[in-house]
Amino acid sequence: TPVIGVLALQGDVREHLIALAAVDAVARPVRRPEELAEIDGLVIPGGESTTISKLAVLFGVMDPLRARVRDGLPVYGTCAGMIMLADKILDPRSGQETIGGIDMIVRRNAFGRQNESFEAALDVKGIAGDPVEGVFIRAPWVESVGAEAEVLAEHEGHIVAVRQGNALATSFHPELTGDHRVHGLFADMVRANRTAESL
Ligand code: GLN
Repeated sequence: TPVIGVLALQGDVREHLIALAAVDAVARPVRRPEELAEIDGLVIPGGESTTISKLAVLFGVMDPLRARVRDGLPVYGTCAGMIMLADKILDPRSGQETIGGIDMIVRRNAFGRQNESFEAALDVKGIAGDPVEGVFIRAPWVESVGAEAEVLAEHEGHIVAVRQGNALATSFHPELTGDHRVHGLFADMVRANRTAESL
């Protein structure tokens, strides 16, 4: 059984822990650098990306995180977590850094303010069956992706889900819907990576 951490500095950590348990992963909150060594994959939750960035530096996990992601640790970021996985933010706030890992440029709060949050049915590549109900809360979109990144979903012409190697990112929050198929996709990525590493 893969052990999947949820970066627990700020944001909707609990919802991700529940979703991961539902797809048969051992889910645990991760805060300190030592804890990074014990996981097979990591989720970066939604919340506020500047706050997560500053706390990651403060807790001394920013550089270890970058190193683990560079080494191929499977990671999945939702919303603020997507921003954390972008190699570049179009409009960073002062002091805001990212972990990086996906060659993409994100625009923060692209879909509007908190009260313009919305839901939309999305076709997501790699997810069979009914459309995924996308919950967008002051969500970013992806302005552009590099050659290595694969677009998995768009909403009204804007990229809202991307995968590059072992890194997955969505503008929306599957952890809030009770539909665990996106977490299932990520858990499969983690399992495949574990198998590949043990060969
Ligand atoms: N707007 C937030 C940010 O810039 C993201 C919102 C979310 O994660 N729901 O970090």
